[in-house]
Amino acid sequence: MANKATVASEEQNFILTSLSPSRGQKRLALIIVLALLTALIFITAGRLSTIQLARIDAIVPAYATASFVNDSITAVLLFAQFSILRSRAVLVIASGYLFTALVVIAWVLTFPGLFAPTGLLGAGLQSATWLYMLWHSGFPVFVIAYALLKDADPPKPVDSVGAAILSSVAVIAFVVCGATFLIIAGDGLLPRLMIDATHITPLWTYGVWFSALLCVLALVVLWVRRRSVLDLWLMVVMCAYTTELCLNFSTRFSVGWYASRICGLLSGSLVLFVLLYESTVLYAQLLRAVFAQRREREARLATGDAVAATIAHEIKQPLSAMITNASAGIRWLDRPAPDCVKAKETFEQIAADGHRAGAVIESIRAIFKKEGRNRTSLDVNELIGEALALVHSDLQSYRIMVMTEPDGHLPLVNGDRVQLRQVLLNLMTNAIDAMADKDEPRTLSVRSNLYDGGGVLVSVADTGVGVGSQDADQIFNPLFTTKAHGMGLGLSICRSIIEAHNGRLWVAPNTPRGAVFQFVLRTDPPLAQQGA
Ligand code: ADP
Repeated sequence: MANKATVASEEQNFILTSLSPSRGQKRLALIIVLALLTALIFITAGRLSTIQLARIDAIVPAYATASFVNDSITAVLLFAQFSILRSRAVLVIASGYLFTALVVIAWVLTFPGLFAPTGLLGAGLQSATWLYMLWHSGFPVFVIAYALLKDADPPKPVDSVGAAILSSVAVIAFVVCGATFLIIAGDGLLPRLMIDATHITPLWTYGVWFSALLCVLALVVLWVRRRSVLDLWLMVVMCAYTTELCLNFSTRFSVGWYASRICGLLSGSLVLFVLLYESTVLYAQLLRAVFAQRREREARLATGDAVAATIAHEIKQPLSAMITNASAGIRWLDRPAPDCVKAKETFEQIAADGHRAGAVIESIRAIFKKEGRNRTSLDVNELIGEALALVHSDLQSYRIMVMTEPDGHLPLVNGDRVQLRQVLLNLMTNAIDAMADKDEPRTLSVRSNLYDGGGVLVSVADTGVGVGSQDADQIFNPLFTTKAHGMGLGLSICRSIIEAHNGRLWVAPNTPRGAVFQFVLRTDPPLAQQGA
């Protein structure tokens, strides 16, 4: 129950019956009210209500049909809103629209001269007029009840939506049928509202003023308690009702009479249009939100996958070094005369690899957070030495010759030590992999120079299989690999790291064979400043 209430209160923020009107809507509502007022003044002051226009008999059934369709659709939409909000006020206004839709049927059936000379139900002019009065004074009563109930504190939610809607429909149908029956049955007994089709009695005037007064009262109550889009448009509907009633004093088929029918149509359509418009807007917003949520989830999953894969990729090297050192340590201790000094060295190496693994994990977090907290001034040649030391055993086991040409006068670069060492380590490991299956002399050349365009250039060249021109564009893409057990992440991580350092990483063919990976790093401080 509490859950239902929470869901309803969350949904309220997106539903017309509780959504605040936008500035544009308020402006449009004001324009419609001013137009109604102007039309009323223009028609009454200009005595247009007496100017007869061509007689169009179809206007009444057309007006009744349109009102019935509009009001019944509005009722259905409001009942649907009630099923979400479970607010009694919404149920009341939905019932109000159903009431007008049903009264319209009775009115059009009793209207003399439409389906039969005295109306289809055999009633006379009086019945149709009384039904019109019932229609126009009944609806404002529903609006007043809605306005009074909507802020009922605390709002009493309804338990069974289906039962509430069904009982409302049954009550409204019963009331309309009962009232229609009484009006038709008492046609001769009820006080006369019309003398004939064109002449009214004073009671008609009082009746119209009474209905108009109810509309004004509904308008005032709504104004005092106005809050939502629905409140705003119901106020406009009440203005249209009042205008329609005031124009009702016009003779049939006069300008005023036609204007009155137009106001009636307007009042019936307004809330329907707004409901449809708001529903479409909300639907579009919902779609956008769903797509955004889906994209966000995919991005989060992709980042999660990437983090997991990156950790696995980067941690593999220190872990295999630890395993190799641990096996070596065991062998030193397993000898008939254990060599504790060598064993101690391997344990120290394991501890260092463990620390390195921890630092790698930290640096991966930094890559994904895109932070540059651990940046310091670094000597690139020192980094190259550290990375070469880490692949030392692989270089030995594949009998790879190492050539280093460090420029001893290089300026310092600004960067994250662990990340940049990982870059060198990845490039060197790839170079070793590329040469592993080659019989020719294997050479790994690592150079550092001042870069012409500013910064420091580091190149890692091998004499391996080389990078085919068709692969050169793709090798930096995540998950691209040509190795049976490769993950295809090393180069993409390298590029992310170098780019996060405002540098650039690229590949070129080596001569006579193999590949050269080169990257440029910014100096710390920039070279221009160093020179100054
Ligand atoms: P992995 O090493 O897991 O395959 P990388 O992103 O490090 O992932 O490398 C992607 C691909 O780039 C490799 O599969 C390989 O085809 C190619 N590559 C990388 N370095 C070299 C190199 N030095 N020589 C030839 N090809 C290379």
